[in-house]
Amino acid sequence: MAIYNLGSINADMTYRVPHLLAPGETLATSSLTRGLGGKGANMSVAAARAGAQVRHLGAVGDDGRWAIERLTEYGVDTRQIAVLSEATGHAIIMLDSDAENCILIYPGANRALSVERIEAGLAEASPEDIFVFQNETNAQREAAELASARGLRVAYAAAPFDADAVTLVLPLLDLLVLNEIEAAQLEAATGQGIDSIPVRDVVVTLGARGCRWINTDSGDSRDFAALPVTPVDTTGAGDTFTGYLLAGLDRGLPMATSIEMAQRAAAIMVTRQGTADVIPDLKDVTEYRF
Ligand code: ATP
Repeated sequence: MAIYNLGSINADMTYRVPHLLAPGETLATSSLTRGLGGKGANMSVAAARAGAQVRHLGAVGDDGRWAIERLTEYGVDTRQIAVLSEATGHAIIMLDSDAENCILIYPGANRALSVERIEAGLAEASPEDIFVFQNETNAQREAAELASARGLRVAYAAAPFDADAVTLVLPLLDLLVLNEIEAAQLEAATGQGIDSIPVRDVVVTLGARGCRWINTDSGDSRDFAALPVTPVDTTGAGDTFTGYLLAGLDRGLPMATSIEMAQRAAAIMVTRQGTADVIPDLKDVTEYRF
Protein backbone atom coordinates (compact mmCIF):
# COMPACT_ATOMS: atom_id res chain seq x y z
CA MET A 1 0.00 0.00 0.00
CA ALA A 2 1.24 3.45 -0.83
CA ILE A 3 0.32 7.10 -0.47
CA TYR A 4 0.40 9.10 -3.70
CA ASN A 5 0.80 12.76 -2.89
CA LEU A 6 0.29 15.43 -5.55
CA GLY A 7 1.95 18.22 -3.62
CA SER A 8 3.94 21.42 -3.56
CA ILE A 9 7.65 21.57 -2.87
CA ASN A 10 9.01 24.88 -1.59
CA ALA A 11 12.18 26.42 -0.31
CA ASP A 12 11.06 27.87 3.04
CA MET A 13 12.81 31.02 4.21
CA THR A 14 11.88 31.64 7.83
CA TYR A 15 12.64 35.02 9.41
CA ARG A 16 12.24 35.50 13.17
CA VAL A 17 10.79 38.97 13.84
CA PRO A 18 9.78 40.80 17.05
CA HIS A 19 6.30 41.36 15.57
CA LEU A 20 4.56 40.66 12.26
CA LEU A 21 4.99 43.46 9.72
CA ALA A 22 2.34 46.16 9.52
CA PRO A 23 1.47 47.74 6.13
CA GLY A 24 4.25 50.12 5.05
CA GLU A 25 6.63 48.93 7.77
CA THR A 26 10.26 47.95 7.11
CA LEU A 27 11.98 45.69 9.61
CA ALA A 28 15.45 44.15 9.72
CA THR A 29 16.07 40.71 11.14
CA SER A 30 19.28 38.80 11.58
CA SER A 31 17.53 35.47 11.94
CA LEU A 32 17.08 33.50 8.73
CA THR A 33 16.68 29.73 8.39
CA ARG A 34 16.32 28.00 5.04
CA GLY A 35 14.63 24.64 4.77
CA LEU A 36 12.44 22.30 2.80
CA GLY A 37 8.74 23.11 2.91
CA GLY A 38 5.51 23.32 0.95
CA LYS A 39 2.37 21.60 2.20
CA GLY A 40 2.94 18.73 -0.20
CA ALA A 41 6.55 18.09 0.78
CA ASN A 42 5.70 18.41 4.47
CA MET A 43 2.93 15.82 4.17
CA SER A 44 5.14 13.43 2.21
CA VAL A 45 7.89 13.69 4.82
CA ALA A 46 5.41 13.26 7.68
CA ALA A 47 3.84 10.17 6.12
CA ALA A 48 7.28 8.71 5.31
CA ARG A 49 8.50 9.39 8.88
CA ALA A 50 5.37 7.64 10.08
CA GLY A 51 6.49 4.58 8.14
CA ALA A 52 4.39 4.82 4.97
CA GLN A 53 5.57 4.23 1.44
CA VAL A 54 5.10 7.67 -0.15
CA ARG A 55 5.24 8.53 -3.82
CA HIS A 56 5.42 12.25 -4.40
CA LEU A 57 4.02 13.72 -7.63
CA GLY A 58 5.21 17.28 -8.09
CA ALA A 59 7.61 19.67 -9.76
CA VAL A 60 10.59 21.88 -9.02
CA GLY A 61 12.79 24.09 -11.18
CA ASP A 62 16.42 23.48 -11.98
CA ASP A 63 17.22 25.35 -8.74
CA GLY A 64 15.28 22.74 -6.75
CA ARG A 65 17.30 19.57 -7.24
CA TRP A 66 18.45 19.86 -3.63
CA ALA A 67 14.79 19.49 -2.56
CA ILE A 68 14.44 16.24 -4.52
CA GLU A 69 17.64 14.97 -2.91
CA ARG A 70 16.40 15.92 0.53
CA LEU A 71 13.01 14.24 0.02
CA THR A 72 14.80 11.10 -1.18
CA GLU A 73 17.04 11.21 1.89
CA TYR A 74 13.87 11.44 4.02
CA GLY A 75 12.53 8.23 2.47
CA VAL A 76 10.10 9.65 -0.10
CA ASP A 77 9.91 8.09 -3.58
CA THR A 78 10.78 11.08 -5.77
CA ARG A 79 10.92 9.41 -9.18
CA GLN A 80 7.75 11.24 -10.26
CA ILE A 81 8.99 14.72 -9.40
CA ALA A 82 9.58 16.68 -12.60
CA VAL A 83 12.29 19.30 -13.09
CA LEU A 84 10.68 22.09 -15.14
CA SER A 85 11.83 25.41 -16.58
CA GLU A 86 9.86 27.43 -13.97
CA ALA A 87 11.57 28.44 -10.71
CA THR A 88 11.12 26.23 -7.64
CA GLY A 89 8.32 27.43 -5.38
CA HIS A 90 9.30 29.32 -2.26
CA ALA A 91 7.75 30.70 0.90
CA ILE A 92 8.75 33.70 2.97
CA ILE A 93 7.70 32.98 6.54
CA MET A 94 7.73 35.59 9.29
CA LEU A 95 7.58 34.18 12.78
CA ASP A 96 7.07 36.36 15.86
CA SER A 97 7.88 35.76 19.52
CA ASP A 98 4.32 34.48 20.19
CA ALA A 99 4.83 31.76 17.54
CA GLU A 100 2.37 33.54 15.22
CA ASN A 101 3.32 33.54 11.58
CA CYS A 102 2.44 35.08 8.25
CA ILE A 103 3.49 33.51 4.99
CA LEU A 104 3.98 34.69 1.41
CA ILE A 105 4.11 31.97 -1.24
CA TYR A 106 5.49 32.02 -4.77
CA PRO A 107 4.19 28.79 -6.39
CA GLY A 108 6.50 28.63 -9.44
CA ALA A 109 6.92 25.05 -10.72
CA ASN A 110 4.30 23.76 -8.27
CA ARG A 111 1.56 25.07 -10.56
CA ALA A 112 3.12 23.86 -13.81
CA LEU A 113 2.91 20.06 -13.67
CA SER A 114 1.05 18.57 -16.66
CA VAL A 115 -1.92 16.21 -16.34
CA GLU A 116 0.02 13.71 -18.48
CA ARG A 117 2.79 13.59 -15.90
CA ILE A 118 0.28 13.12 -13.10
CA GLU A 119 -1.35 10.28 -15.03
CA ALA A 120 2.06 8.67 -15.57
CA GLY A 121 2.78 9.09 -11.87
CA LEU A 122 -0.38 7.17 -10.99
CA ALA A 123 0.28 4.37 -13.50
CA GLU A 124 1.13 1.79 -10.80
CA ALA A 125 -1.51 2.92 -8.29
CA SER A 126 -4.13 0.43 -7.10
CA PRO A 127 -7.33 0.59 -5.00
CA GLU A 128 -5.42 -0.21 -1.76
CA ASP A 129 -3.55 3.08 -2.17
CA ILE A 130 -4.44 6.57 -0.98
CA PHE A 131 -4.26 9.72 -3.07
CA VAL A 132 -3.80 13.05 -1.30
CA PHE A 133 -3.51 16.59 -2.60
CA GLN A 134 -3.68 20.16 -1.34
CA ASN A 135 -4.42 23.50 -2.94
CA GLU A 136 -0.85 24.42 -3.89
CA THR A 137 -0.64 22.65 -7.27
CA ASN A 138 -2.49 22.86 -10.55
CA ALA A 139 -4.67 20.13 -12.15
CA GLN A 140 -6.29 19.19 -8.85
CA ARG A 141 -9.66 18.15 -10.25
CA GLU A 142 -8.10 16.15 -13.09
CA ALA A 143 -5.73 14.41 -10.69
CA ALA A 144 -8.52 13.57 -8.22
CA GLU A 145 -10.60 12.17 -11.09
CA LEU A 146 -7.71 9.99 -12.27
CA ALA A 147 -7.11 8.68 -8.75
CA SER A 148 -10.79 8.10 -8.12
CA ALA A 149 -11.17 6.25 -11.44
CA ARG A 150 -8.36 3.91 -10.37
CA GLY A 151 -10.26 3.20 -7.15
CA LEU A 152 -7.90 4.99 -4.72
CA ARG A 153 -9.24 6.61 -1.57
CA VAL A 154 -9.02 10.36 -2.19
CA ALA A 155 -8.01 12.76 0.59
CA TYR A 156 -7.77 16.54 0.36
CA ALA A 157 -6.28 19.12 2.70
CA ALA A 158 -8.22 22.27 1.79
CA ALA A 159 -5.34 24.66 2.24
CA PRO A 160 -4.65 27.37 1.35
CA PHE A 161 -8.42 27.69 1.23
CA ASP A 162 -10.10 28.56 -2.02
CA ALA A 163 -13.86 28.11 -2.28
CA ASP A 164 -13.82 27.34 -6.02
CA ALA A 165 -10.99 24.82 -5.71
CA VAL A 166 -12.66 22.89 -2.89
CA THR A 167 -16.16 22.84 -4.38
CA LEU A 168 -14.72 21.52 -7.64
CA VAL A 169 -13.22 18.44 -5.97
CA LEU A 170 -15.71 17.87 -3.12
CA PRO A 171 -17.73 15.13 -4.92
CA LEU A 172 -14.54 13.09 -5.44
CA LEU A 173 -13.37 13.05 -1.82
CA ASP A 174 -13.40 10.28 0.79
CA LEU A 175 -11.59 12.36 3.40
CA LEU A 176 -11.38 16.12 3.87
CA VAL A 177 -8.97 17.70 6.38
CA LEU A 178 -9.24 21.37 7.15
CA ASN A 179 -8.58 23.78 9.97
CA GLU A 180 -11.18 25.77 11.85
CA ILE A 181 -10.90 28.86 9.65
CA GLU A 182 -11.10 26.82 6.46
CA ALA A 183 -14.14 24.96 7.86
CA ALA A 184 -15.92 28.28 8.46
CA GLN A 185 -14.96 29.43 4.96
CA LEU A 186 -16.33 26.20 3.47
CA GLU A 187 -19.57 26.60 5.40
CA ALA A 188 -19.90 30.16 4.09
CA ALA A 189 -19.12 29.09 0.51
CA THR A 190 -21.50 26.12 0.41
CA GLY A 191 -24.21 27.40 2.75
CA GLN A 192 -23.98 24.01 4.53
CA GLY A 193 -22.91 23.17 8.05
CA ILE A 194 -19.64 21.26 8.19
CA ASP A 195 -21.59 18.22 9.54
CA SER A 196 -23.51 17.92 6.29
CA ILE A 197 -20.67 18.33 3.79
CA PRO A 198 -21.06 15.35 1.43
CA VAL A 199 -17.68 13.72 2.20
CA ARG A 200 -17.60 10.49 4.24
CA ASP A 201 -14.95 11.59 6.73
CA VAL A 202 -14.20 15.19 7.64
CA VAL A 203 -11.52 16.16 10.16
CA VAL A 204 -11.43 19.74 11.43
CA THR A 205 -8.21 20.65 13.23
CA LEU A 206 -8.59 23.16 16.05
CA GLY A 207 -5.01 24.12 16.87
CA ALA A 208 -4.35 24.01 20.62
CA ARG A 209 -7.86 22.61 21.11
CA GLY A 210 -7.19 19.42 19.16
CA CYS A 211 -9.56 18.30 16.44
CA ARG A 212 -13.01 17.01 15.56
CA TRP A 213 -13.78 14.01 13.35
CA ILE A 214 -17.14 13.88 11.62
CA ASN A 215 -18.31 10.68 9.93
CA THR A 216 -21.19 11.72 7.71
CA ASP A 217 -22.26 8.09 7.03
CA SER A 218 -23.14 7.52 10.66
CA GLY A 219 -23.74 11.17 11.53
CA ASP A 220 -21.35 10.76 14.48
CA SER A 221 -18.72 13.24 15.48
CA ARG A 222 -15.92 12.88 18.02
CA ASP A 223 -13.67 15.46 19.64
CA PHE A 224 -10.00 14.82 20.41
CA ALA A 225 -8.21 17.06 22.93
CA ALA A 226 -4.76 18.36 21.95
CA LEU A 227 -1.68 17.12 23.77
CA PRO A 228 -0.21 19.66 26.23
CA VAL A 229 2.91 21.36 24.83
CA THR A 230 4.48 24.81 24.82
CA PRO A 231 4.35 26.07 21.24
CA VAL A 232 7.52 27.38 19.60
CA ASP A 233 6.50 27.35 15.94
CA THR A 234 3.17 26.04 14.65
CA THR A 235 4.28 26.06 10.98
CA GLY A 236 3.69 22.62 9.46
CA ALA A 237 1.58 21.32 12.37
CA GLY A 238 -1.41 20.78 10.08
CA ASP A 239 0.69 19.07 7.40
CA THR A 240 2.32 16.80 9.97
CA PHE A 241 -1.13 15.96 11.29
CA THR A 242 -2.43 15.03 7.83
CA GLY A 243 0.68 13.04 6.87
CA TYR A 244 0.48 10.96 10.06
CA LEU A 245 -3.28 10.54 9.74
CA LEU A 246 -2.91 9.15 6.21
CA ALA A 247 -0.02 6.90 7.19
CA GLY A 248 -2.20 5.40 9.93
CA LEU A 249 -5.10 4.81 7.53
CA ASP A 250 -2.70 3.39 4.94
CA ARG A 251 -1.49 0.89 7.55
CA GLY A 252 -5.11 -0.15 8.09
CA LEU A 253 -5.49 1.50 11.51
CA PRO A 254 -8.94 2.77 12.49
CA MET A 255 -9.63 6.48 12.00
CA ALA A 256 -9.62 7.25 15.76
CA THR A 257 -6.23 5.57 16.30
CA SER A 258 -4.80 7.34 13.26
CA ILE A 259 -6.07 10.68 14.58
CA GLU A 260 -4.48 10.04 17.98
CA MET A 261 -1.10 9.39 16.35
CA ALA A 262 -1.54 12.47 14.16
CA GLN A 263 -2.27 14.61 17.21
CA ARG A 264 0.86 13.36 18.99
CA ALA A 265 3.02 14.03 15.94
CA ALA A 266 1.54 17.51 15.38
CA ALA A 267 1.95 18.44 19.06
CA ILE A 268 5.65 17.52 18.96
CA MET A 269 5.95 19.50 15.74
CA VAL A 270 4.77 22.74 17.39
CA THR A 271 7.62 22.44 19.92
CA ARG A 272 10.16 22.60 17.06
CA GLN A 273 11.14 25.43 14.77
CA GLY A 274 11.15 24.57 11.08
CA THR A 275 9.10 22.57 8.61
CA ALA A 276 9.84 19.32 6.74
CA ASP A 277 13.33 18.96 8.19
CA VAL A 278 12.10 18.69 11.78
CA ILE A 279 8.98 16.52 11.45
CA PRO A 280 9.20 13.84 14.17
CA ASP A 281 9.61 10.17 13.28
CA LEU A 282 7.44 7.33 14.53
CA LYS A 283 9.84 6.50 17.37
CA ASP A 284 9.69 10.11 18.67
CA VAL A 285 5.93 10.10 18.35
CA THR A 286 5.45 6.81 20.15
CA GLU A 287 7.94 7.50 22.96
CA TYR A 288 7.38 11.22 23.65
CA ARG A 289 6.09 11.89 27.18
CA PHE A 290 3.53 14.72 27.21
P1 ATP B 1 -0.52 25.15 10.22
O1 ATP B 1 -1.15 25.87 9.05
O2 ATP B 1 0.11 26.04 11.24
O3 ATP B 1 0.34 24.01 9.82
P2 ATP B 1 -3.23 24.34 10.69
O4 ATP B 1 -3.91 25.64 10.86
O5 ATP B 1 -3.40 23.60 9.40
O6 ATP B 1 -1.70 24.44 11.02
P3 ATP B 1 -3.96 23.56 13.35
O7 ATP B 1 -5.42 23.34 13.56
O8 ATP B 1 -3.36 24.81 13.87
O9 ATP B 1 -3.67 23.32 11.81
O10 ATP B 1 -3.13 22.35 14.01
C1 ATP B 1 -3.15 21.03 13.50
C2 ATP B 1 -3.02 20.07 14.66
O11 ATP B 1 -1.78 20.33 15.33
C3 ATP B 1 -4.08 20.22 15.72
O12 ATP B 1 -5.24 19.46 15.40
C4 ATP B 1 -3.35 19.68 16.96
O13 ATP B 1 -3.37 18.27 16.94
C5 ATP B 1 -1.90 20.14 16.72
N1 ATP B 1 -1.64 21.41 17.39
C6 ATP B 1 -1.61 22.65 16.84
N2 ATP B 1 -1.33 23.59 17.76
C7 ATP B 1 -1.15 22.92 18.93
C8 ATP B 1 -0.82 23.32 20.27
N3 ATP B 1 -0.62 24.60 20.60
N4 ATP B 1 -0.73 22.34 21.20
C9 ATP B 1 -0.92 21.04 20.88
N5 ATP B 1 -1.23 20.61 19.66
C10 ATP B 1 -1.34 21.53 18.68
